[in-house]
Amino acid sequence: MPVADQPPPLPPLREVIAAHGLSASKALGQNFLFDEQLLARIAAIPGDLDNKAVLEIGPGPGGLTRALLRAGARVTAIERDSRCIPALADLQAAFPGQLRVVEGDALAVDHADLMGEPFAVVANLPYNVGTLLFTRWLSGEDWPPRWTSLTLMFQQEVAQRVVAAPDTSAYGRLAVLAQWRSRARLAMKVHRSAFTPPPKVMSAIVHVEPAEAPSGVRSATLERLTEAAFGQRRKMLRQSLKGVPGALAALEVCNIDTTRRAETLAVSDFVALARVLDG
Ligand code: SAM
Repeated sequence: MPVADQPPPLPPLREVIAAHGLSASKALGQNFLFDEQLLARIAAIPGDLDNKAVLEIGPGPGGLTRALLRAGARVTAIERDSRCIPALADLQAAFPGQLRVVEGDALAVDHADLMGEPFAVVANLPYNVGTLLFTRWLSGEDWPPRWTSLTLMFQQEVAQRVVAAPDTSAYGRLAVLAQWRSRARLAMKVHRSAFTPPPKVMSAIVHVEPAEAPSGVRSATLERLTEAAFGQRRKMLRQSLKGVPGALAALEVCNIDTTRRAETLAVSDFVALARVLDG
């Protein structure tokens, strides 16, 4: 494995794009990053990656991939666009044994099965599938998950919803899902001009690490509660939770005023309600 301070020389990413004819596809959410200093800073967010297993979704021409490889990571990269595979093969040759490329749709792959060991996820996600992948990684009854951290580029507005606090307009299902048994923080803002082509909106990177799951609470129950509560977020809880069996009684048990609205409840309030329902 190459040591981090002696990376093999690689052509600039713009040359890779030109050599492989990788014109950005809008349908595949392709906005590429070329600034290698920025890419190195992103790869540093999860901490020491030397010899760690990393799953990257959407490597494209391999900008973030090369930064992860230089950090010593053993990278598995899932890419849907077959045009990118030859560019990634060049990286495989430059970092022997460190990069596995899987051509396909990341939504159709079981990531834990594919990796077969604990892994960090680092990705400049295609925006059209980003939130879906994120909610999948955070859902399910098995906790802790097989991933050790998620370091993900989102549209800034989505990133703000992940880390939002109660009583803000950004607070909702995504915040509760990301915070009830994980620690989520905004790690870096990325200006739209850093991308080629630049997207319409600003981006931001969120870093999430699993925490201890509160006892006696099922993820499915919490999801049902937040779906109902935030599905009608302007309504009082006694109205929005009417359709969830046992929820109104649970509000009484938890001493939560039924005239409050979902966005005023702390994440711990949702956990307490779910615990009563799972009784
Ligand atoms: N990682 C590169 C970078 O930072 O410059 C490219 C990021 S670009 C925003 C998103 C990448 O995800 C593209 O290469 C695109 O082809 C790929 N992609 C889109 N949908 C995908 C899917 N469902 N599964 C795997 N890769 C996908």
